[in-house]
Amino acid sequence: MDTCWIMPALWVAGQVLAGLLLADFATGVIHWFQDRYGDPSWPVIGHAIYMNQEHHKRPRFFLTGTVWKRNREVWMVCAATALLLLFLDSFTTLSGSFVFFGLFANEVHGASHRTGRENGPFIRALQRTGLIQNPLHHAAHHRRAKNTHYCTMTNWVNPVLDSIRFFPAIERVVFLSTGIRPRFDSTVPPRFQDTAR
Ligand SMILES: [Zn+2]
Ligand SMILES: [Zn+2]
Repeated sequence: MDTCWIMPALWVAGQVLAGLLLADFATGVIHWFQDRYGDPSWPVIGHAIYMNQEHHKRPRFFLTGTVWKRNREVWMVCAATALLLLFLDSFTTLSGSFVFFGLFANEVHGASHRTGRENGPFIRALQRTGLIQNPLHHAAHHRRAKNTHYCTMTNWVNPVLDSIRFFPAIERVVFLSTGIRPRFDSTVPPRFQDTAR
């Protein structure tokens, strides 16, 4: 049997998976920035920051509104990224996968706040694999100081970033270079406030 297709197929599958993990990392960076430095009064991105910060108080607030209203900022960022990649002639399997999975970032996060019944068997099956984030994993972000588990697409990137304290390290660099401290989330219970700073 001719098996010469196996290595190219594995290579493509690896690129697609890497694109998903990169998209997950991007959700973490954007979410972290919105939580720790974002101001809802900012132009253009203020609405997305408001939606994100409000969902800390009311997690299912994230599910309200039309599909367009929930996703418009993410889709605009993905469209701009795709155009940039085309312009730079850098549209590959990896970068295409990154943009493609990025389109679903808010909906995957939203699925973490839906009940199993609302999600249906297909989404529940994907959540069990960790390929899309399951509600229990995402719940860790909503507990305590809300300063871990920023990535919202898979179960695989958060453990790595949190174990190396990736975001606290960036916050220290930001503070040492600009004097700006992360904002304090008003929904963090008093007993966790020290660890939220
Ligand atoms: Zn958050
Ligand atoms: Zn959430």
